[in-house]
Amino acid sequence: MKLRGKLLVSLAAVILFMGLFQSFFLQSRVEKTFENYLSESDQMRIEMIKQNIISYYETFGSLEGIDRILDDSINGQNYGMGMGMGRMMGHMSGTSFGVIVKDASGNVMANTAKNISVNSIKQELIINGKTIGTINVYPTKNSSIERLEQQFVHSVKLAILLGFFFAGIISLIIGYFLSRKITKPLSQLMSGIENVARGNTDYRVAINSKDEFHQLGEAFNQMTNTLERTERVRKTLVADVAHELRTPLSIIGAKLESIQTGALEPTEEVILQLSDEVYRLSRLVSDLQQLSQAESGSLKLHKKNTEVNKLLEVIIEKFQWLADEKNISLQLSRSPEELFIEIDTDRITQVAVNLLGNALRYTPNRGVVTVIVKNEKHHISISFSDTGCGIEPEKLPFIFERFFRADEARNRDDGGTGLGLSIAKGYVEIHGGEIKVNSIIGKGTIFEVILPK
Ligand code: ADP
Repeated sequence: MKLRGKLLVSLAAVILFMGLFQSFFLQSRVEKTFENYLSESDQMRIEMIKQNIISYYETFGSLEGIDRILDDSINGQNYGMGMGMGRMMGHMSGTSFGVIVKDASGNVMANTAKNISVNSIKQELIINGKTIGTINVYPTKNSSIERLEQQFVHSVKLAILLGFFFAGIISLIIGYFLSRKITKPLSQLMSGIENVARGNTDYRVAINSKDEFHQLGEAFNQMTNTLERTERVRKTLVADVAHELRTPLSIIGAKLESIQTGALEPTEEVILQLSDEVYRLSRLVSDLQQLSQAESGSLKLHKKNTEVNKLLEVIIEKFQWLADEKNISLQLSRSPEELFIEIDTDRITQVAVNLLGNALRYTPNRGVVTVIVKNEKHHISISFSDTGCGIEPEKLPFIFERFFRADEARNRDDGGTGLGLSIAKGYVEIHGGEIKVNSIIGKGTIFEVILPK
């Protein structure tokens, strides 16, 4: 059964059960109240009969001849006071009484009881603390009042059921529209999922409600955004790699052909150029290998407790000759205390090598490159700051993308593969950290690596 059908059936079931329970409970409550009311009025009538007998005794000094007035008293004649409360109660009550009056010695003075039932009510007749006799009352329910009670209960039940019937119809109509409203976003999402499953990753859903379905729709759109981007990256990767391989391969091919045809002398300079291209190719292959590791979520890290200042000191030492060559001042600003952190030193070394290599490459002679280590509350921050050419603001969002080069021709000539930052980002993220960039064109660039403690 579809969700909409289920919603309607459960709504109908709830209304039905509510109606049944309500009518059941109301019926028993009405019966009880009715009975309470009747028994209260019976109590008052018995009291009235008692008072009439006592008044009789007070007037005549004995219960002799009480049988003459007993019928009237039972039917509501208020002895000595004409028609009053007693008569009224007699009309209102649904019970008729048979009464036996006995004097103090137990002699029967009057008897109107036709059926002597077990559930009689026995009361003493007392005047000034002296028992002058007893009365036994045998109540019998009137059939007319029983019918009245049944009619009353029946009409109350009918009113309740009718009320629930109409309320049920209205609720089902409201439920129908409500369930349509609930299931509409679901069917939108369903068709979105079907589209994505068919490979239609540019499909987006528009859910205009302000509830959780809207959030679900947003999450779905976000997911398809990521899917689309991943799909695009996957499709372009092969094309990018082919493109990157083509340039050095065509240079090598053309030069070897020229040597073969004798148009080019295989001088030391030509061979150096050829080995340069081969070096470029092998660097590209090793960068690609690293990138695939950095981007595969399953890369196993070999973490060990490492002192960050010491690690960077060793790396900087290895770059010193390059800095000296360009007259660049290469400095390390250590944290005041030793900083130990669990990292895969090989991977983090690669991150530092890529960032430091870039900083030195894109900083002109006599510039300054500084590595700053800071101990923050929840993380360790390593900044690579240079006084180089900077990156144009519109290019900043793309610099971590594969094969992105801010200055295509120049960076390629400099030997850059356009993969260094993607690799660095991948390795930092595997460590649960992040990498940020800040750059001012003409002034310099700062890359900040944040590693959680
Ligand atoms: P590449 O191997 O080309 O340097 P990267 O991924 O390391 O590739 O860097 C991508 C691009 O970002 C570079 O081509 C360069 O234009 C720019 N870039 C990276 N680091 C710096 C920096 N410190 N200063 C200026 N530009 C930079």
